[in-house]
Amino acid sequence: MSFLLSLIKEILFPKRCGSCGKIGSFLCAECYNQLVFLSEPVYISLKKNHLSQVIAAAELTTEMRSIIHTLKYQSVKEIGITLAHLLYFTTNIPKTDLITCVPLHPIRLQERGFNQAAVIAQELARLTQVRFVDTLQRVVNSTHQASLGSKSARLHHLDNHFRLSIEPNQIANRSILLVDDVCTTGSTLNECAKVLKTNGAASVIGCTIAHGV
Ligand SMILES: [Zn+2]
Repeated sequence: MSFLLSLIKEILFPKRCGSCGKIGSFLCAECYNQLVFLSEPVYISLKKNHLSQVIAAAELTTEMRSIIHTLKYQSVKEIGITLAHLLYFTTNIPKTDLITCVPLHPIRLQERGFNQAAVIAQELARLTQVRFVDTLQRVVNSTHQASLGSKSARLHHLDNHFRLSIEPNQIANRSILLVDDVCTTGSTLNECAKVLKTNGAASVIGCTIAHGV
């Protein structure tokens, strides 16, 4: 994009902090300073865990929640790029053969225009120079997790919601980094990991921007 065009874009659509709305950047210094970064992998309590580990950059605090909300529901795609950088520069991303992401159902994808997890994963793939491969499809347009009440309801509602969308030989014996925006119970990551492992993946590591309930 030429300098003039980017200047016009900056004037008409200035960058705003995804949390407080202040003009200047997608994450202002004040909100950045409020983030609670995680130094250890996230502990996930699941009956049958298909994930080698789950790493997250920060806790799902009020600021983080509003940044992710702006990314998803106000469709500010560039915030996904900023969050991928945050993840890359604040955590030790394990080296894997491939990077993939939790898919959106096609209806949800059409509504939103993009999959926020794919935006983060693709930028992470660019930064780490690991190949991004879209491996999964979501076959059931599930109810939003937060509206599902109890933890056990959230843990059990995802059975058979995901399917492999490529040939299994493309993931066979490969280590995979599975990216999503938020991890709560870990059930979404785990269901995706189950499909990948069942189809021959060697290992799956969950990787999200935030962790929280
Ligand atoms: Zn801010």
